[in-house]
Amino acid sequence: MKSFSVQATDGKARAGLLELNHGVVQTPIFMPVGTHGAVKGVTPQVLSQQIGAQIILGNTFHLWLRPGLEIIQKHQGLHRFVNWHKPMLTDSGGFQVWSLGDLRKISEEGVAFQSPVNGDKLFMAPEDSMRIQHVLNSDIAMAFDECTPYPATREQAAASMQLSMRWAKRSRISFDELSKSPIYAGSESSDNRSSNALFGIVQGGMFEDLRTESLQALTQIGFQGYAIGGLSVGEPKEDMLRVLAHTAPQLPPNQPRYLMGIGTPEDLVEGVANGIDMFDCVMPSRNGRNGWLFTSEGDLKIRNARFKDDLLPIDPDCGCPVCNPGAHGEDRPPFTRAYLHHLQRIDEMLGASLATIHNLYFYLDMMRQMRAAIQAGQFDAWRMKFASSRATGV
Ligand SMILES: [Zn+2]
Repeated sequence: MKSFSVQATDGKARAGLLELNHGVVQTPIFMPVGTHGAVKGVTPQVLSQQIGAQIILGNTFHLWLRPGLEIIQKHQGLHRFVNWHKPMLTDSGGFQVWSLGDLRKISEEGVAFQSPVNGDKLFMAPEDSMRIQHVLNSDIAMAFDECTPYPATREQAAASMQLSMRWAKRSRISFDELSKSPIYAGSESSDNRSSNALFGIVQGGMFEDLRTESLQALTQIGFQGYAIGGLSVGEPKEDMLRVLAHTAPQLPPNQPRYLMGIGTPEDLVEGVANGIDMFDCVMPSRNGRNGWLFTSEGDLKIRNARFKDDLLPIDPDCGCPVCNPGAHGEDRPPFTRAYLHHLQRIDEMLGASLATIHNLYFYLDMMRQMRAAIQAGQFDAWRMKFASSRATGV
């Protein structure tokens, strides 16, 4: 990681600049999720130029299983493989392995599991996760951890968190060892580059003192950034918000802060208000594919019969290429809700694609608006306006 600086603050909210090997990211930022190396239904060009994505997320676990490291190594990393040349973050695979439930067994050494693709017996330790992320050559790698289940007793949450902290230490050692020898020396990605970054992940379940203990353990090891993990795993919203409000402001102020796997537009606003810089979530893309559209006046379920003959765009205030082609240099009117409704009803992939483009634009634009409001010292006013507009109802 080249640098991170906070340029403006408003209350706890921050606007910053994160300089990585593949480019600069303006924070706060939302990272579209490219699970298997693709943000489903959206080309890198549209992602970058029309939606304004600055960094996307790749899943270590899925890419390791398919297509496998050999293919990605032949492309000199994930950027070239998926043809996205801006920054990328990869998760550690910990969450996906953990999500396998009965198919996995966790020990001090790592996680033994059965491949959901072909049933092979596989093993992932922190060192494996670091090695895979090294081959992927992501700008930001994540430490390998165990996501604490919900619900968990205090004893279970403490034991799980402490295991994650031992794995965090092993991740750091392994990552630093691998970083000594750049894997793609001589390639374009080796020019002028600094080491990729490794972020630590705060665990501790719903227990505030365990969250603090976890954070202290991580800062002692030392990471380039800090994430809050283990939220949005089935807990009530008020628990998520309580742990967020407790943990986020304690994260080191001069380093990027990442809230993992969250969430709704309202959750993102809450995250920024608590000083979070980075977010990822499948919600805008997954919900989009199912006809759930986010708008400035609330959420819209386009499959609903009332949109059958609705000639309005999804969101008249939206600047995305679906709602506002003119803003993207195209001389044609917007797509109508009636057309989006029709595409969803016949399960046409174009419907999923257009919905994803709109939703991702909505999320990215929200982050741009928050950044501008923070820089103008008007974050609270923006937040109230956003909340009341979202409550209007489409
Ligand atoms: Zn739109």
